[in-house]
Amino acid sequence: MPESVPDEDFLLALLNSTPVVDGVPADDLADPARARAWLASAGGTGTDEELRQVLDARSALQAVVRGEQPPAVLAPFLRDTACVPDITDGRVTWTLSIAPDRRLAARAVLAWDALAGASPGRLRPCANDECRLFLIDRTRNNTARWCSMAACGNRLKARRHYQRARPTPPGR
Ligand SMILES: [Zn+2]
Repeated sequence: MPESVPDEDFLLALLNSTPVVDGVPADDLADPARARAWLASAGGTGTDEELRQVLDARSALQAVVRGEQPPAVLAPFLRDTACVPDITDGRVTWTLSIAPDRRLAARAVLAWDALAGASPGRLRPCANDECRLFLIDRTRNNTARWCSMAACGNRLKARRHYQRARPTPPGR
């Protein structure tokens, strides 16, 4: 299987394919032709069935990372999956055994699990509640809050500064 994109990068790119652009929720994978090309570039088959699987996995993963759904909702993407060992270059390697159209969705879920195990809590939603992006916090102190300082960090700081200069609206 060509692993042209590291699974962690693929997972984050998938989660972040529904950005808010100019205040409007967008979907980078809404155009099927473009989405299939993206899947193929990530090592997938680029088929309609794969796209359907990946979009379903995206929704489930986004809900899990946002804490809206329990991780059990990811189970269907791993159904009938097996890891098959082989010896390559003197080492045991494990290959995911799964229908080709389901492989990418399973890889995204497995990448989520690997992150949750190795770096618990480090994959999370951007702290800007108007932003729908996610981040993987790689700071030493686990203090990253925004998908990017340029996109959300500075914007929020500017907004807080602006709000401090105005009467506080109810409920804040
Ligand atoms: Zn953000």
